[in-house]
Amino acid sequence: MQFRTRAIHVGNEKCAETGAVVRPIHMASTFVQPGAGDWGEFDYSRSGNPTRKALETTLASLEGGCGALCFASGMAATHCVAAMLRTGDHIVAGSDIYGGTYRLLHKVTNRAGIEVSLVDTTDPSNLKSALTESTKLVWIESPGNPRMTITDIAACAEIAHNHGALLGVDSTFATPVLTRPLELGADIVMHSATKYLGGHSDLMGGALVVREPALYDELYFVQNATGAIMGPLEAFLCSRGVKTLELRVREQSRSAQMLANWLDAHEQVERVLYPGLPNHPGHDVARRQMDGGFGAMVSFELQGDFASAKHFVESTELFQLAVSLGAVESLIEQPASMSHASYDAEDRAKHGISDGLIRLSVGLEAVEDLQADLERVFQDL
Ligand SMILES: *Cc1c(COP(=O)(O)O)cnc(C)c1O
Repeated sequence: MQFRTRAIHVGNEKCAETGAVVRPIHMASTFVQPGAGDWGEFDYSRSGNPTRKALETTLASLEGGCGALCFASGMAATHCVAAMLRTGDHIVAGSDIYGGTYRLLHKVTNRAGIEVSLVDTTDPSNLKSALTESTKLVWIESPGNPRMTITDIAACAEIAHNHGALLGVDSTFATPVLTRPLELGADIVMHSATKYLGGHSDLMGGALVVREPALYDELYFVQNATGAIMGPLEAFLCSRGVKTLELRVREQSRSAQMLANWLDAHEQVERVLYPGLPNHPGHDVARRQMDGGFGAMVSFELQGDFASAKHFVESTELFQLAVSLGAVESLIEQPASMSHASYDAEDRAKHGISDGLIRLSVGLEAVEDLQADLERVFQDL
């Protein structure tokens, strides 16, 4: 079956009891067992819940994994991976990563005596030189956040595996519509389900999809032991969102490409960071690795400083000033003061997150209206 058919049917089989085409939301915290010490499929909702399980089944199919685990947030999902590591282990992460992941690794995971190095993974040879004997995990994002850098996932998988390390990919920006990291050799795919999977700015959630059963079991053990599971209402909403994932992502990517082309030719724009532009340094890898679109996140730099970028993001109307992304509503933000404010100023400068950088999450509104909204602000600058 094709992707969008699986998004609607896998995990969403009709309710056996009533024939309802939409499965019920199971709010029960506990389940009656056949006998003492004789366990049914579900026993306690932290360990497993039918509504969560339905979403996990769909996501495993869409990413091509052996199983999926759904969490209370994207950070809870990433934390579960980091919590598999032990004192003395080393993590290498890409330098263009989500601000919250940077904070988790540098300010929480490091407390357990786990070392973290950031490298520019757009050149996989940087990854090779950063690996040490203690490296257990490589963590990358492609497209990266907020600079939309592209990392060659297959090349990183080979380097990580030659070193006995696992490769985890935060694929929130790409979604399984555009990139399927497990097919490229990654061990774990992570999503902030808050973004495209949910798609309507009305739930918080995270997901891990895993290639091998042994690793799935290990992550399931940590999830069940630490407890940051996705609730049944969120799982229901996310399952509903996933049914239109392909349609939304394809259409939003088309609009993003049009806006990126327009911004790229705009005289008040210093440069546009979008992997769908031939002048983007990762364009060739993106063409290979992304299927039929380059995503709906666009960053650009104004000719101007912190104050003009701040003024710009505060002046649009359809593009609402908010962090987050991936929903039907378009959003705008300034990474230096918002999504990436937790970076040390020095790391921000070193990793190219300039004060004039603006990040757009292109939604499902008519692209003409979105362009007019931006043009109005350019004219007032
Ligand atoms: C939002 C986001 C996260 C964190 O997810 P939450 O659901 O906010 O916890 C991680 N990675 C990326 C790329 C994100 O956009």
